[in-house]
Amino acid sequence: MQKDRFKFRCVYCANCCSDKKTIVNVTYLDILRITKGLNLSFNEILEILGFYIYEKNISNDFFKKMVIPSIITEKGNAFVGLLKKSTGECIFLDEKKCKIYNLRPMFCRTFPFTFKVLNIKSSSSKINIQMFYTTKAKEYCKGISANAPYISNKKWVKIGKRVVEELKENSKFIEIWNNNVEKGRIKPTARNFIKTILKYDNKMKRLIIEN
Ligand code: SF4
Ligand code: SF4
Repeated sequence: MQKDRFKFRCVYCANCCSDKKTIVNVTYLDILRITKGLNLSFNEILEILGFYIYEKNISNDFFKKMVIPSIITEKGNAFVGLLKKSTGECIFLDEKKCKIYNLRPMFCRTFPFTFKVLNIKSSSSKINIQMFYTTKAKEYCKGISANAPYISNKKWVKIGKRVVEELKENSKFIEIWNNNVEKGRIKPTARNFIKTILKYDNKMKRLIIEN
């Protein structure tokens, strides 16, 4: 059990939702949750997602280190995230409030923390993880301050374990997508990516999370 203590209380400054340089990465499970929760049509799903293409000269090692692997698209390797407005704000931010708070992606739920897996056993309760403030959070999160209360490590570690599980599932999904693209079985368009997600796994039970 981690002994470090962390101070944090969200003050709803929305800095994390409006940083121009931050991509709000989404897993396929995040996409399914938002799609179902908002009852989005196929075209509406495409309207909320950004396919952020990475430069061609980035090494394979760099991609391997990413928590959410990139997907192969017809325009190059890309990370999938929520679309941003020209101001840098997330498409779901409205007057400093999140319009999809109950459906927000896992990365929004865990901010300002990040988790390092120390060991993975067969089930999520056996995962041992360590928590840290993210680098970005230390830069601009107003909720981290000397006046903020100490958080409950137990509560956040529980969220962290759930995220680790979902990231593992997401990596599996992306591996399948990338393999199929490499073998020429699927044309790597954004539309096909969404179609694949909708077919892959849509059991509501696995999508429910406590808010
Ligand atoms: S989904 Fe909500 S919490 Fe996440 S970045 Fe967008 S506005 Fe912020
Ligand atoms: S930057 Fe920190 S305090 Fe501001 S909205 Fe995000 S989590 Fe809350």
